[in-house]
Amino acid sequence: MTSLSKFDKKLFEKTMKTRFFFGPSFHIYGGGMSGFYDFGPLGCALKTNLLALWRSHFILEENMMEVDCPMLTPAPVLKASGHVDKFSDFMVQDGLTKEYFRADHLLANKISSLLNNKKNSEAQKMALEKSLALVDAWSNDPVLLEEKLKEYEVKSPETGNDLSPPIPFNLMFPTFIGPTGLAKGYLRPETAQGIFVNFKRLLEYNQNKLPFACAQIGTSFRNEISPRQGLLRLREFQMAEVEHFLHPKDKSHPRFAQVSHVELHLLPREAQELAKEAEIRTIGEAVRSGMINSETLGYYIARTYLFLLRAGIKPDKVRFRQHLATEMAHYACDCWDAELLLASGWIECVGCADRSAYDLQRHSEFSDQQLMATERLDQPLRREVMFVLPNKALLGPLLGKRMTAVQKCLDELTVESKMAMQRQLVEQGTFVLSVAGEELELRPEMVSFKTEEQNVYDEHFTPHVIEPSFGISRLVYAILEQNFYLRDGDEPRAVLSFPPVIAPVAVTIFPLLNNKGFVVFIEKLSKEFRQAEVLFKVDDSNVNIGRRYVRADETGCAFGCTIDFDTLKDDTVTLRERDSMGQARLPISDVAAVVKALVQQKCTWEQLIKKYGLFVFAGDSR
Ligand code: AMP
Repeated sequence: MTSLSKFDKKLFEKTMKTRFFFGPSFHIYGGGMSGFYDFGPLGCALKTNLLALWRSHFILEENMMEVDCPMLTPAPVLKASGHVDKFSDFMVQDGLTKEYFRADHLLANKISSLLNNKKNSEAQKMALEKSLALVDAWSNDPVLLEEKLKEYEVKSPETGNDLSPPIPFNLMFPTFIGPTGLAKGYLRPETAQGIFVNFKRLLEYNQNKLPFACAQIGTSFRNEISPRQGLLRLREFQMAEVEHFLHPKDKSHPRFAQVSHVELHLLPREAQELAKEAEIRTIGEAVRSGMINSETLGYYIARTYLFLLRAGIKPDKVRFRQHLATEMAHYACDCWDAELLLASGWIECVGCADRSAYDLQRHSEFSDQQLMATERLDQPLRREVMFVLPNKALLGPLLGKRMTAVQKCLDELTVESKMAMQRQLVEQGTFVLSVAGEELELRPEMVSFKTEEQNVYDEHFTPHVIEPSFGISRLVYAILEQNFYLRDGDEPRAVLSFPPVIAPVAVTIFPLLNNKGFVVFIEKLSKEFRQAEVLFKVDDSNVNIGRRYVRADETGCAFGCTIDFDTLKDDTVTLRERDSMGQARLPISDVAAVVKALVQQKCTWEQLIKKYGLFVFAGDSR
């Protein structure tokens, strides 16, 4: 009998530790450093399989491009993206111990503890629930935040001391690149910027056609103020992000019809303001009614949901919550978070945002490169076009072969940059142009400006971007927690019910006893699993088979393949499914292909039982 018992945090944590799914990094040095975690063999295999599934679900299925960019990023890139000025959280300091805490977290904890008071009237409960829903929105405004910290009498959590007013803290890790100490850099706080700065190359790679999507999987860094939530809040973590570039006037998605029927729990802005629960809607309805601002954003929300289900997230424990207008990141114009229900409450694991033209415009402005796409018009338009004409008689001898590069650079300047150059030359008598990393000082006599009305056949525009952004480390944790349950028995036995496609071990080979006759079968099965690229283990330890099954269940191994005395007679083995504990008996020669099909979700356990029948041991009443 299997029981989906209440989540037992203590046993869960014990399993994570004893089976070494993950653990604090650098622990042998004074217990380690908060915000850093190592994945052990099982956690690492789980994460690798999850990323392979992500790649297949998004990159392969949607024909996306993929890039791999450095984690260490020069400061100007992150200045342009807004992270240098705006990527901050507010912290408060204990007046006596000088310890720092995240202001919004303390506020949310205080409101949650007030909510637990059984003496609250219905009206008080409603008001507190409403406030709790608004904490994220308050967290961006230091004045409001301070007001609310005072209103709820928030004190230092362990000492009860008074706290300082909120102080902004930039979450990026700064560093210097090279020995001079002059080139400032940061460890990237997200992978997205690497994609934006490559926009022109990607567009060219895609034969200048829009829409297109590009993904990046990699490590990001955030110097979280006081991370105490294990894998949920790390200072170094893995992300998988997609940037989908599209025409701002056409945010339809060609494959939207394929997902429009998908039903999910949606929590729009208005519902949060009234402290309401999420409602089930189809993604088609949500987009048609304008709740979600475009088909493409809706498409990615639905695809994200389908991915989460494939990865073992439970449908009733995932909701998509729309950001409140005041809560949205500096770049977003609509944003929905996939939140997963864990023991600690609803936790954001994926952000799906419409980032509008913000990033490309900012990088255009700061790099002086046109990050635009071009649309061929059916009918030409009359437009004023501005040209910067180099004085070749003056610049030619000065630049020699570099003249072509300078001409190209001048042609590619945005209209705004050309106008700024003209203004500066008039007002200051000089303008510094960056050409391929070198600086060229221009004076007014070196260039002239011409504006002409022309027939324009092409329209240039800055694409908008839709972005699903996955926190992989957080998702791994959510999968672990949501798939952990205890099976009834003499003593409760922990099981991790991962879908086979992400299970760290797909199948374990169990020789029933330590019998020399079984060795040849272990080798045969191992060879076949290896050839079929099925992740397997052999457990030939001297422990009875029941205990070995328990041990495998605790690691989330999906199937068990047992060699017994009948194997010696007829070349068959049993295959056991972890959750139902049901078994089938099948020829050894079928096993690897069958397990592979089960792992790849091409066949279900029920279909397998239909084909081979349920195997019942003589004298076994299960
Ligand atoms: P954001 O760019 O803040 O929307 O974050 C995108 C995703 O990254 C979130 O949904 C989380 O899953 C993940 N994430 C953000 N911060 C952290 C962190 N400190 N530790 C682990 N995961 C994080």
